[in-house]
Amino acid sequence: MSIRENIGRLKASLPQGVALVAVSKFHPPAAIMEAYEAGQRIFGESRVQELKAKQQQMPDDMEWHFIGTLQRNKVKDIASHIHTIHSVDSLKLLQEIERQAEKHHRVINVLLEIHIAREDTKQGMIPDECRELLNGIRLKDYPHVRFAGLMCMATDTDDTALIRREFRTLRRLFDELKSAFFPDDASFKELSMGMSHDYPVAVEEGSTMIRVGTGIFGVREY
Ligand SMILES: *Cc1c(COP(=O)(O)O)cnc(C)c1O
Repeated sequence: MSIRENIGRLKASLPQGVALVAVSKFHPPAAIMEAYEAGQRIFGESRVQELKAKQQQMPDDMEWHFIGTLQRNKVKDIASHIHTIHSVDSLKLLQEIERQAEKHHRVINVLLEIHIAREDTKQGMIPDECRELLNGIRLKDYPHVRFAGLMCMATDTDDTALIRREFRTLRRLFDELKSAFFPDDASFKELSMGMSHDYPVAVEEGSTMIRVGTGIFGVREY
């Protein structure tokens, strides 16, 4: 199936209110333009240099999301254009995003990345670290950061029941943090969960934002 057909099929299957992030990492500009021409506007990348190079040669009305591990000293390289950073997993990174966003007179959306999966390799804070982070800051000290919600990756497995439990855990944490820290803040509303192989389960468990690469662009070359 073509990129256009994949996007059409995906969008038709998503309930209203669930956004599609097209994960274009490792795919060439021509493939991204094909998605753009099919109406896709939100794109996700996981490497700073690759994101910058692509963003500079693409139409201005694309919304770029950063989904990979982000080193603090690289925030300055994406701060002028990035719309949402899905992978905020420390206070230091949050502080640097605030600093760089202020320099550019922008507000950057952030999602707090939570480690839910069984694998050691997955990034993110465990729920207690996230509670601690939010307890330890004053939101008004971050006027250039919009706390938009949470993100996670589920365990890479065929065990659908396990994946469902993990997404449900993130959903419950979201509800808890929402009422504890953001009761009157309509911006804290996103649950970024679900990839090509597990997004249907994620959507059933309340995802508002799925991140799909292979399911749109095919298998990555490397
Ligand atoms: C690569 C990646 C995706 C997309 O994965 P697919 O299996 O190709 O859909 C989603 N989220 C993150 C954080 C990724 O790194």
